[in-house]
Formats: sequence, C-alpha cells, structure tokens
Amino acid sequence: MPNSIPRKSVPELVAGRLASGLLQGQYPAGSQLPAERDLIKELGVGRSSLREALKILSEAGLLDAQQGVGWFVNELSSARMLKARQLAAEVAPPAPAKWAQKRKAADGPKRLPVAKEKPLHIPNLKSDRLGTFEFISWWEREKVQNARVMVVGAGALGNEVIKNLTLMGIGNLYIVDFDKVEAANLSRSILFREKDRGREKAQLAAARAVEINPDVRVQYLHGDVTTDIGLGVFRRMDVIVGCLDNREARLAVNRFAHWMNKPWVDGAIQELLGLARVFVPGEGACFECTLTEQARRDLAMRYSCPLLARQNILLGKVPTTPTIASIIGAMQSQEALKLIHNMPVEPGKVLHYNGYTNFMHTTAYLPDAECESHWIYGDVTELPLRAEANTLAELLEIARGDLGADTVLELDQELVLALNCAACNTVEHVLKPLSDVSFEAGHCPSCGEMREVDLTHTITGREDFLERTLASVGVPPLHIVRATNGAEFRFYELSGDLPTALHFNDFDEAVPGLHAPRVRLGEAVQGEAQASGRVHLID
Ligand SMILES: [Zn+2]
Ligand SMILES: [Zn+2]
Repeated sequence: MPNSIPRKSVPELVAGRLASGLLQGQYPAGSQLPAERDLIKELGVGRSSLREALKILSEAGLLDAQQGVGWFVNELSSARMLKARQLAAEVAPPAPAKWAQKRKAADGPKRLPVAKEKPLHIPNLKSDRLGTFEFISWWEREKVQNARVMVVGAGALGNEVIKNLTLMGIGNLYIVDFDKVEAANLSRSILFREKDRGREKAQLAAARAVEINPDVRVQYLHGDVTTDIGLGVFRRMDVIVGCLDNREARLAVNRFAHWMNKPWVDGAIQELLGLARVFVPGEGACFECTLTEQARRDLAMRYSCPLLARQNILLGKVPTTPTIASIIGAMQSQEALKLIHNMPVEPGKVLHYNGYTNFMHTTAYLPDAECESHWIYGDVTELPLRAEANTLAELLEIARGDLGADTVLELDQELVLALNCAACNTVEHVLKPLSDVSFEAGHCPSCGEMREVDLTHTITGREDFLERTLASVGVPPLHIVRATNGAEFRFYELSGDLPTALHFNDFDEAVPGLHAPRVRLGEAVQGEAQASGRVHLID
C-alpha cells in the first residue's frame, strides 16, 4: 500500500488549494472570500470548477454562502480543520507570493549559525577527502565523523541518500532493507550493478558505501524495520532517514523515533512528484499526525485482518524516476546533515516538489493532540540480557522486582497464539510473532477458509510459555521492553545484545573475533585496499 500522492479532479485540487489557504490563515475566519471572478483569475481555473470546489468546501462546513453577497469563511473547529487538512493534502496553496512575503517579513530571515570557535584550518586537499568541506563555515568534522545515521530502505531514495551521506563522510551508517535487487531496480539505483540481481539490497548498499568512502563505517540489516530492529539501535542514532514506500513502515519508524526522542527525515516520491519532511519529537506534527481519516481507516484494517494487511504491505510498488529520487534524496540528506550539526530545521512541515511544474512549496501540518505516537520513553534500564538467550520469565521477574507482582510486559509486535477455524471448529496453536505467520498460513488446511487470529501483546505471567526466549516471541536484539504495573512504566533494554546488534563494522576486517565481518562478498583485492583492511565487493 504505497503512501501515494493521490490523483485529484480539478475541482478537488481547487478545493484543496483553497483549504490550504484557509489553514495558512490567508482567508481568516469570518472574512469573505474574494469575488468569483477574482478567484478564477487567482487560481487560474474555470467557473464551473471553481463552483464545484466551493460546493466541496461548503459541504465540509468550511464555507457558508450568503445569498447575493458571497462566500464566508467559517471558524476552524478541530473537525473542520481535519477536513481542511484532508482536502489540502498534497495540494499547493494559492498565490503564494503575496502571503509568503508577509510571513517572511514577520518571521525574519532564518540565519544559519556560524561556528565562531571554528579554528582556521587549511586542509590538505591532496590527502584529505573531506578537505573541501572545511571551507564551509558551519561544517564540523567531528560531528560528521561521529554521526550515526540509520537509513531505512535501500531502494531508489535510499541509494541516493546512502551515496550522499557517504560522500559527505558521515561516520557511521546503519542500513536496513528486506528486499533483494531485481532488474527493475537497476534503472534508479546507483549502488547496484547488473551482476547484483538476487542479492540483498542492504548488504550491497553497505558494501558499496565502503567502496565509495573507506572511512565510513557501516552495518546493514537484511530485515524489516517494523519488527527486526531493537529500540536500543534507534536509541543510539543521531538521525533516522526514512526512504520508504509504504505507510506501515513510516508509521513504525515514526513511533520508534518518537519513543527514543530522535529526529527522522521522511521522503516520498512518485513519478515526478516528491516530498521531504523532518519530524522532531515534541516540535510540531509527527508523521502519524499527518495521516488522513482514510489512511487511519486503512491502518485499522490490520486489526480486523492482520495477516492480509501485512501481505498488502509487501506488495506496494510505486513508479518513480532516478531524477526525482536524486532530488528528494538530496533534500533528505541535506536535512540529515543539518540535524547532525544542530542547525535549524522545520519540523512538522512538508516540502513538496512538483517536477511537472517545478513548483515547490512548504506546508505546515497541524499537530494532533490525540495522536498515539506522542510518547517519549523515560529512563532506560540497561540489563545484561540477550533476546536469544533470556526468557520472558527472567525479564518479568526483574520487572516485578522493580514494579511489584502485578507487573506485565508489553510486546511491540503482536504474538499469534492460535488460528481458529470457525467452519471446522478447530484450533491450531501457533505462538509465533505476527511477522512469522504468512497470509497463506492463515488459511485453514482442511476447508481453506481464512481463520480467525488469536493475538496478544501482553505477558501477564500466567502464560504457559514463559520459558520461551524473548527472541522466539518476536523481541528483536537490543530491544527495549516496556513493563507496567498499571500506574508506572519501566523500560528495560536487552543491552547484552549491544556488541552484536550495533557495531558498524560489517566489512571491517580489522576487528577480530566477535565482530569479524559477517559477510565477504568476493575476495579482498590486492594492494591499497587490502592494506586498509577492508573487503571489496567483486565477483
Ligand atoms: Zn503525532
Ligand atoms: Zn476449516
């Protein structure tokens, strides 16, 4: 299910532009809209489209007609605001020049901070690959080289972002993707080659990043961001860059980043349209705040039919070009670089780029006070436990020592307890995380009907499977598990997983033993590369 940029009819687009104007305060509550002929000129549309657009807005309760006088703007209640946001989604506001200038004057120009204490340093451009950046007034080598950035998705956008971050010398990259390279990826993925078909995208992207800049340390995960990465990994990142093509994964990244109080940069592309946006917990809207009612309904589907919802996510494909991927990927990379430098960004706003018209504009989202993602974890207790080695019982015992006998554990992924066939009146006991149960497996082997899924995400201590390991019930390595007694929460990190779950030394031969490269693609090449202890990717 791609987070696609919807195709709207002309009246819908016009209504969207007017709604956007309402949200931006261009047409304040109580004021009269400009006369029909002026709106026609301003919006560049025909009379019938305008009239239909006004009808859409009046049906949404945003405008009222006064017979013989004109259209008046209603007060924006929260319900109306939501409607306006839905209408305005992905649509440019009208006549930006007039009000944009007014806003600019009021806000004052935003100036980039210059690192005053930056010592005068003349780099050696022959030996220092980042030397040129030293001439940038705000660029700070230490921040860039120490930065830890997670790139989620190594498709068209991810390739561009990884390339840019690598060229800029970002010190530590954690690359996640669950896909493998197929021929169609080769038209918009600078890091992949013809011979790479069938290989894991995350692994290839990480290997190629080291080829581009051997000073960059990388780690990759061939897996699913929604289930396979512990929150402790997010906790140790400076920025997360989402290069995703579906809403479910964005929602997961948004929640994990918010819980760990980390900024994330989202990008989306379709054909020649694209958007980039930064989300910072506590500063403006988060990704979940931006969802329309329809999107929320789609997401709610996973509760009524969780297996099908998962299946659909895996099918999402959106047509894009390498050019739009470069443009949006570049914007995302730049925002990440700014975040690393603590430079001002515009969280909770979206930058739209329309490659058909070359129109670019920014819109602010309204934060949703009821949004379920707005939660930041408290202090994290680091335990020497490991997901693969320790059991539910062990963790529960520790939590009960802190919070009392009524304490329960809350899992972040649903656990499938059983599949029930209503037709055959049979129950199959499963006990697997939802991500390990396929849509096909959901069907009854006898009658073929889709079975009801019996789920849980709370461990109360009464289960008969408490001796199972945390990993076996879907807790990823280095995860932070919530425990609560109903009044208070504690957050327990499986810190025993740290050495293996987060090290940034895939392809780094210099580290012996535990962190030896998990993968060798081809053999190390002779000469300089070998001396540097890196593994190169050759066939
Ligand atoms: Zn939110
Ligand atoms: Zn059956």
